[in-house]
Amino acid sequence: MSFNKFNLHNKILANVEAQGYTEPTPIQAQSIQPIMDGKDVMGLAQTGTGKTAAFVLPILQRLIREPKRNVRALIIAPTRELTEQTNKVIAQLGQRTGLKGLSIYGGVNIGSQITSLKRGVNIITACPGRLLDHINRGTIDVSQVDILVLDEADHMFDMGFLPDLKKIVAKLPSKRQTLMFSATMPKDIRILADKVLNNPITVKIGHIAPVSSVDHSFYPVGTNRKNDLLRNILENHDIGPVLVFTRTKVRAKRVAQHLDRSGYEATALHGNLTQNNRRKALEGFGRGKYKILVATDVAARGIDVQGVSHVINYDIPDTVDAYTHRIGRTGRASETGDAFTFVTGSDKGPASSIKRILGDRLKHCVLEEFTSRSSSDESQAQKDRYNKQRNNARTGSKNRSNFRSKPKVKHMSRQGDRPS
Ligand code: AMP
Repeated sequence: MSFNKFNLHNKILANVEAQGYTEPTPIQAQSIQPIMDGKDVMGLAQTGTGKTAAFVLPILQRLIREPKRNVRALIIAPTRELTEQTNKVIAQLGQRTGLKGLSIYGGVNIGSQITSLKRGVNIITACPGRLLDHINRGTIDVSQVDILVLDEADHMFDMGFLPDLKKIVAKLPSKRQTLMFSATMPKDIRILADKVLNNPITVKIGHIAPVSSVDHSFYPVGTNRKNDLLRNILENHDIGPVLVFTRTKVRAKRVAQHLDRSGYEATALHGNLTQNNRRKALEGFGRGKYKILVATDVAARGIDVQGVSHVINYDIPDTVDAYTHRIGRTGRASETGDAFTFVTGSDKGPASSIKRILGDRLKHCVLEEFTSRSSSDESQAQKDRYNKQRNNARTGSKNRSNFRSKPKVKHMSRQGDRPS
């Protein structure tokens, strides 16, 4: 199948080609036409399958015929990074169409957002809190919104976002098209989602389970041996850009500092950072300035950093859904990747849920040396190793030799490239 089939405007088609997309991905193949036909759509697809273009292309097609200065499409997403990323896709696929996108989120000066809004914006991608702030101030008029998209919809319906989301939806015209996209859709959330959708078509691509282009391994580890195991893995594997996930912001910061002191180019990404520092961390990782990004789940949803070779769950995620989202950061767009999860004695609950989903695909890697708590002898050995590494780091380059350069992303060439 080719993109020609959708009768997209020439300018949009040229932008699709410029992105190197030769064929629609399965989610695009199945949802673009119904969206262009004006239907409400619930798109369930694994992360990294091309969901963003699946809704951005029909939005551009609809608005290109009547580009006005007012806001006609509203995309709501849970994280600031995701709004920026979606806005970037809108800019790429919407080049030379005259349509303008803007991302809106808190933690940054509202004045510059208001200035941009005054210049005229057609497609807003926003986090709920700041969006509501603008609506209440009268700086964003949503009365002419034709299309509402809820990206990472399962997350948008969780309790933290729900009150704001309800207020925003109440301000929108009731006659509109609503689209929802998500990798996961628990039953109770689906009930809430159905209240916002009008007779939706559900497009489901593959099992809502971790992507199959990723190898999954569990590493049993003593609670205080995680840093040692992490460094051992970094030293002994052919590793490209790595995303390390921790449960808390403090831990993300500490692990990144520990790696940095051990001679690795690492930085942290978590909710305690200013937006500017979050952007710097993410951009630095994307450009290859940092080889390791240690993040909380703020980075797990929707972020498209290409070429991530390994996702390491320093702390196991609480649910299979969270695992799926984290692991979706690697193995994107037909690449392959590795997912390593550290499992301590107290992680039995989430470990067995993940194991049930992965079945035979899950490998168990037992490195005896790291499975028990460290004795004082081990602690000393650990300190010695650490000091040695630190000295090496001081004398030598920080560019660890076992890091391979950023792999190139292969584009999806066939519909069947993703699991079904
Ligand atoms: P997403 O799921 O929207 O985050 O997209 C994941 C990755 O797939 C991004 O790097 C996109 O640029 C890429 N992508 C989206 N659509 C296509 C396509 N039709 N062919 C190849 N790559 C694509």
